Amino acid sequence: MEMLYEGKAKKVYSTDTKNVLRIEYKNSATAFNGVKKDIIEGKGILNNLFSSFFFTMLAEKNIQSHFIKKISDTEQLVTAVTIIPLEVIVRNVAAGTLAKRIGKEEGFIMKKPIIELCYKNDELGDPILNDDHIEILELATPIELKVIKIKALQINDVLKEYFENHHIDLIDFKLEFGKTADGIILLADEISPDTCRLWDSTTKQKFDKDVFRRDIAPLRETYQALADKLGIS
Ligand code: 5GP
Repeated sequence: MEMLYEGKAKKVYSTDTKNVLRIEYKNSATAFNGVKKDIIEGKGILNNLFSSFFFTMLAEKNIQSHFIKKISDTEQLVTAVTIIPLEVIVRNVAAGTLAKRIGKEEGFIMKKPIIELCYKNDELGDPILNDDHIEILELATPIELKVIKIKALQINDVLKEYFENHHIDLIDFKLEFGKTADGIILLADEISPDTCRLWDSTTKQKFDKDVFRRDIAPLRETYQALADKLGIS
């Protein structure tokens, strides 16, 4: 089947079924807008595993996503959506770019989860946007943005509780949403340690892509250790 799109971490193919696409998770790891890159054997399998697991868990809590089913080690079928070019970041604890922006140490616990919206645009370096920017750029309507924010916080509640039960702090994560042919807003892209910050609740050991970004530990072994900790296989 025809490849429709190749991103940094996934390839998207058409299928014989209308409005259904096949996604293949790749072994490439990138950071800093593609400046740092590597091929990591087994990464695609692990991220397909994580993403399929989290999308299934969310569906069980009545939070629908584009995910239909996992069809192989590295592939899943999804509902076709037009991706809204926003990175929707939910943060429970300050880390990464937020810690820098507000002048706090990584690990600063915030009294409520916060949402940041970034323009998904590599050329511009994914700049942070406010609701007015989003409206004038027509990336989403105010009502769509409201829906996106409500869904993002619901997803945070589900994921945070799940990780807490496995002795892991959900520090922050990035979501993407898309619009179906009928105009319904669906959670899309992936949920994996590539898109989340996950720290051991006691030791604060990192179980996410920061180990690659910051050269802390080997990525595949770290993701495998996370899968083992969560009992996902
Ligand atoms: P930060 O803005 O601190 O770099 O990232 C906040 C959270 O969003 C982190 O969990 C990070 O993994 C995720 N995130 C932000 N932008 C991207 C991106 O372009 N790609 C991926 N995979 N994750 C991102």
